[in-house]
Amino acid sequence: MGDNRVTKVVIVGGGTAGWMAAAALSRMMGHLSIRLVESDAIGTVGVGEATIPAIRLFNALIDLDEDEFIRETQGTFKLGIEFRDWGRIGDAYMHAFGQIGRSLGILQFPQYWLRGRREGVAGPLADYSLTETAARRNRFARLPRIPNTSLDGSTYAFQFDAALYAAHLRRIAERAGAQRTEGRIEGVRRNGETGHVEAVILENGEEIGGELFIDCSGFRGLLIEEALETGFEDWSHWLPCDRAVAVPSENAGPPRPYTQAIAQRCGWQWRIPLQHRTGNGHVFCSEFISEDEATATLLANIEGRPLAEPRTLRFRAGMRKRAWTGNVVALGLASGFLEPLESTSIHLIQNGIAKLLSHFPDRDFAAVNIDAYNRRVAFDYERIRDFIILHYHANQRTDSPFWVRCREMAVPDTLARKVELFRSHGRIFREEDELFIEIAWFQVLTGQNIAPQSYHPLADALTHDELAGFFSDIGKIVANTASRLPSHADFIAQHCAAGVSA
Ligand SMILES: Cc1cc2nc3c(=O)[nH]c(=O)nc-3n(C[C@H](O)[C@H](O)[C@H](O)COP(=O)(O)OP(=O)(O)OC[C@H]3O[C@@H](n4cnc5c(N)ncnc54)[C@H](O)[C@@H]3O)c2cc1C
Repeated sequence: MGDNRVTKVVIVGGGTAGWMAAAALSRMMGHLSIRLVESDAIGTVGVGEATIPAIRLFNALIDLDEDEFIRETQGTFKLGIEFRDWGRIGDAYMHAFGQIGRSLGILQFPQYWLRGRREGVAGPLADYSLTETAARRNRFARLPRIPNTSLDGSTYAFQFDAALYAAHLRRIAERAGAQRTEGRIEGVRRNGETGHVEAVILENGEEIGGELFIDCSGFRGLLIEEALETGFEDWSHWLPCDRAVAVPSENAGPPRPYTQAIAQRCGWQWRIPLQHRTGNGHVFCSEFISEDEATATLLANIEGRPLAEPRTLRFRAGMRKRAWTGNVVALGLASGFLEPLESTSIHLIQNGIAKLLSHFPDRDFAAVNIDAYNRRVAFDYERIRDFIILHYHANQRTDSPFWVRCREMAVPDTLARKVELFRSHGRIFREEDELFIEIAWFQVLTGQNIAPQSYHPLADALTHDELAGFFSDIGKIVANTASRLPSHADFIAQHCAAGVSA
């Protein structure tokens, strides 16, 4: 059995995906020889700065010190994403992380809230979420539960500088034994019989051989596509945005503990506040707006002075038909791309790594194991895809043909069924272990103005006065707790300000 073990892993690419893979494998599988090849001349995509709470599981996996990581990446905390102008111009709602309110018996909070809104005793969802209330007041503390209550506290993720994040992971990986080689890969040697990759060939002629190859080479997919021609499943008919223009700017005030996604006429704009700057970008559909106009829109809507020239990135929504083919596993942009609206790309890297660990191959690279991996990864991509499409599709905007097209397009059946069930009964069911939980869907569905016709009959078990008391109690606890939290800026200054050692 020992003879058949994979011992030599080659990682192609040193962006976020490459260094996440190197850090995780070197920490978790110390017996492996891990070589990472990257080319400074080619560089990385340089964006990817907002995350979701699941990243904390990855941090735990690689035993990362959270304060140190935030300090070294100029990071901030992220409690959710504020969506502005998505349903209609003037609308604002938040996808705040974690749970909201509390369930009673077997019935979840949103069903009581739907009844409470009809009867005028429930306020906005935010009133029952410490995470959102804290975000709106620019406050933050690590508080998983509200003390002496059965209510969740705040759930958080991070915003950080992408280049500094890769550098931080590199230090972790190299300390754990991963070896980095600088150089441009110009060729690939494959086995004549199996077609497996045996080595990558650098421009100086050096060959780097391995048994398992992890393709983290970015959009081009150096191994998975250019060498193995795996094929790409194109989802641009559902997610038509195909470019982004990005520019960093000076902070115009203390950094907010959340990301903003502001809809524009032919796309949307992100604002990601870090300690030393704000990341901005305008994601747009080139069929409806020129690059120059998109850049002008971005520059007109940033809060501080730009710190660099705007640069444009091109992409296509979709995924590789088989992210794992033969002895090559693609991670990151090499495996596919869903636009950054819900900050899911880094999560998909983490997810790919976790699944690679659970499906770790022998040198026979059994098809049954590879198929199982590919099915699970495709499922995760598809459910996240649906969640992102929902934001575009459920709009009532009339100001541009872009939004009309998004509203009128046919959506995947899986999404259409979810929306229909919600519209009729206010119900949402999380399928298997899909990423976004019911309350995340609920916030986006209601935030995009989809109103259910009814709520669950069990919510009628409370009298009107009991229902009013239920909301009033939770609202008071949340508001009182939020008012005692430190400001986000003070929390960072005290625990994890860049340039200050612990
Ligand atoms: C506009 C935009 C906004 C985004 N925002 C977010 C966000 O907010 N949150 C989020 O989670 N994700 C976001 N993403 C996605 C995120 O940026 C990526 O998932 C992440 O950076 C991983 O990129 P990567 O490592 O796969 O590729 P890259 O960063 O492109 O790295 C590729 C690596 O391969 C190397 N390489 C390529 N060819 C060769 C060669 N021939 N020889 C040697 N080395 C080679 C390069 O040098 C580089 O090191 C965003 C993406 C885009 C396009």
